[in-house]
Amino acid sequence: MIKRASIVSASVALGCIASVAPVLTSIYIAEEDAERRERDDLREFATKAVMRAELVSYQAVAALADMAATPGPPCSPAHLAQLAHVIFNYRYVQDAGAYGGGQYLCSPLLGDVREQHLTMSEPDRRSNDGYLIWYRHKNPLSDARQDIQVGRNGNYVSIDAQSYVDLIDPARRPIAVFSTETNALLALSMDADAADMLHAWKQAANVSSDQWHYATAHSATLPLSVVVKSPRNSLLGNWTGLLGMWLSIGVVVGGLFGWLSFRKISQQLSFPSTLEWAIARKRIDVCFQPIVTLADRECVGAEALVRWKLNGLDISPDIFVAVAEQNGLIQPLTDLVLDKTIDELSTFLRSRPSFYVSINVSSEDLQTSRFLDVLTARLEGTGIRPAQIRIELTERIFINADTTRQTIAAFRKAGHPVYIDDFGTGYSSLSYLQTFTIDVLKIDKSFIDTIAQDAASSIVAPHIIKMAHELGVEILAEGVERDAQVDYLVERGVQYGQGWLFAKAMRSKELIAWLGEPRTQLEPMKQCDDS
Ligand code: C2E
Ligand code: CA
Ligand code: CA
Repeated sequence: MIKRASIVSASVALGCIASVAPVLTSIYIAEEDAERRERDDLREFATKAVMRAELVSYQAVAALADMAATPGPPCSPAHLAQLAHVIFNYRYVQDAGAYGGGQYLCSPLLGDVREQHLTMSEPDRRSNDGYLIWYRHKNPLSDARQDIQVGRNGNYVSIDAQSYVDLIDPARRPIAVFSTETNALLALSMDADAADMLHAWKQAANVSSDQWHYATAHSATLPLSVVVKSPRNSLLGNWTGLLGMWLSIGVVVGGLFGWLSFRKISQQLSFPSTLEWAIARKRIDVCFQPIVTLADRECVGAEALVRWKLNGLDISPDIFVAVAEQNGLIQPLTDLVLDKTIDELSTFLRSRPSFYVSINVSSEDLQTSRFLDVLTARLEGTGIRPAQIRIELTERIFINADTTRQTIAAFRKAGHPVYIDDFGTGYSSLSYLQTFTIDVLKIDKSFIDTIAQDAASSIVAPHIIKMAHELGVEILAEGVERDAQVDYLVERGVQYGQGWLFAKAMRSKELIAWLGEPRTQLEPMKQCDDS
């Protein structure tokens, strides 16, 4: 039982693991998948941001080239008209004007400021090809606003730094644009923190953070780089979707595994396999019901009857013997009954050579000489006489008449008397029985029950008794429960009886004790069959 319990618990554990493992694996894969997508998305976003920064810078360069071709002197009406044209044409150019001697001269937005002496600060950078660049420069038009100003050959353009970073992004991921020559921060999106982005830029975006992913991208043509970041949970909506999908797959696969394990366990726990286990472990007992001579109620033998207690419940032999017959388990069951009978009663049988035990055998046991061979081998050297082990066959074996005739003859030849069990309930008739040589006829309990009662079926018993006498076989009445039945049977010459009036089936030790007790009359015993 312990081994089976461990097999069952192992199977249950396996079922659980089989159910849970795919789900856990699914969660892990979903997590990895979401992480990879998040990083890919962010890298793509950084590339878009650097393209925008390039586009804005090229507009400044192109605008200055247009302005260089302006006819007439600086701040002339023709010049101012050309500057207005540039502002209108270049989306990211906010203002375009002329400077000289470190001062603003004019622009369409400032007007002519030559007399106002508006000083220009020193540029943050002078490039080799003549460009002057002011990073985050304060525009004279506004105190609040910081521009990027680019100048060349007396012309300048002002560009709103936000143009570099105002990409349409529903996730509002922070962006920072840096000059790769000076490491200066050119532009920062609304939600970005300058120190944080600068740190990430210096670390080339290799920042370890539980909350953020960072990515960077560099321009191939301009000295520009961008740093972007996205919160790790910014893809949570997507991540939960993926997780949901993987979980569903995990649950389906897990459910399938669980169902298969459950089926396997159910099969293992099926009644026939439990019976097979019980037979193999010899967990089936044998009890012995006394057989008495009716005339003087002397016990002359006993019938071996199987008993099986499963989880504290008595299983009826009528049920499990039939299951054994249908599942190829009857031969090991018959062998088990023989083994236990000899193991438990050999000493007693040797000491009482006239006492016998009858064993029930099924038709399958009689198709070949197998059981007779087993029986003969088992008795060898035990000192038990063959006549002490008798064979009970039911009428059903007569279906295969020729084989049965030979088997019966072989048992009798080997010295084992043969009984026909449950007589009257099966297929045969008395006349059919004439063609077989048997020793004892057991009249079924159903005919004995009606004896000495006013029932129509009570005519069957006297009929069987009469015919048995004519055939010259001895008679054993089954299921005797009342004294009136004994009187009736004795009167008609029935020699033997078996029934609760004399004794119920009992264990071998109790049988031996019961037989040894001095008594004037055998008392009913309550052993195997009473709880
Ligand atoms: P069976 O061979 O006809 O066995 C006699 C049955 O009648 C037994 O039932 C016995 O307990 C019951 N019985 C005996 N006296 C009385 C009585 O006075 N009143 C009542 N009500 N019943 C009585 P059990 O032990 O339940 O066995 C049922 C059947 O199971 C047996 O009928 C036999 O066909 C089968 N069986 C039992 N043991 C074996 C076995 O070792 N091998 C095989 N193949 N079949 C067996
Ligand atoms: Ca029997
Ligand atoms: Ca019977």
